[in-house]
Amino acid sequence: MSSFKKGGMFILSSPSGAGKTTLVKKISKNNNFSVSISHTTRLPRPKEKNGKDYFFVSKNYFKKLIKKKEFIEHAKVFDNYYGSSKRLIIEELMQGKNIVFDIDWQGTRQIKNKKLDYKLVTIFILPPSKKELLKRLTKRENKNMKTVKKRMKEFKKDLSRWKEYDYVVINDNLQKCYKNIMKIINGKNKIVFDKNYIGTHVKSLLN
Ligand code: ADP
Ligand code: 5GP
Repeated sequence: MSSFKKGGMFILSSPSGAGKTTLVKKISKNNNFSVSISHTTRLPRPKEKNGKDYFFVSKNYFKKLIKKKEFIEHAKVFDNYYGSSKRLIIEELMQGKNIVFDIDWQGTRQIKNKKLDYKLVTIFILPPSKKELLKRLTKRENKNMKTVKKRMKEFKKDLSRWKEYDYVVINDNLQKCYKNIMKIINGKNKIVFDKNYIGTHVKSLLN
């Protein structure tokens, strides 16, 4: 029998635009799952709402939260600060809820290193191709090419982190990808993914 407490933590990371926010939202619609709503110093996108997508805060306020040790992890990503609230997460885990995170590799490392008494599964999402990633980012960022370029520039660096994750899933068809992730999340036994296949796919994305 597992010695873990009831709730579990499921982390999704990916290069920007691969689809993790979309997937996290879908997963959180399942009973007993909730999303960890992060704090960020970045400005909201047109459809984003404070308290739903993020807690949008100033840099000064964010720094105060760091000092007060309010974050279970925090990191600087694309010139902005992002962090996950410790109190909210622990409260929900203690109630037996599963928490889904949309955070980067730096935050994932910090949570892994904490070795908490809750199940932790880390999943890395890959886009089907670089062309498709560019298309998704351009659409989401309303053709703000400065932001798109900045995120595409980080793409190679972000990609190299896939080996640090328990699982890697390609988000080509959204529904298929979601189903694969739910299999991983619900799986009692460890599902093995094909590292050679993923390695080849990553190489193709780097070209
Ligand atoms: P991330 O959180 O990884 O940066 P998002 O979830 O914001 O990425 O997705 C980026 C864009 O791609 C969004 O406009 C989203 O609707 C779209 N998208 C996500 N998954 C797919 C998919 N499988 N096929 C087509 N578009 C997708
Ligand atoms: P975006 O600005 O596109 O919403 O997010 C940019 C990046 O920051 C993504 O890789 C996302 O996963 C990451 N991110 C979002 N929230 C957090 C957080 O609380 N902590 C960390 N470490 N990364 C986060």
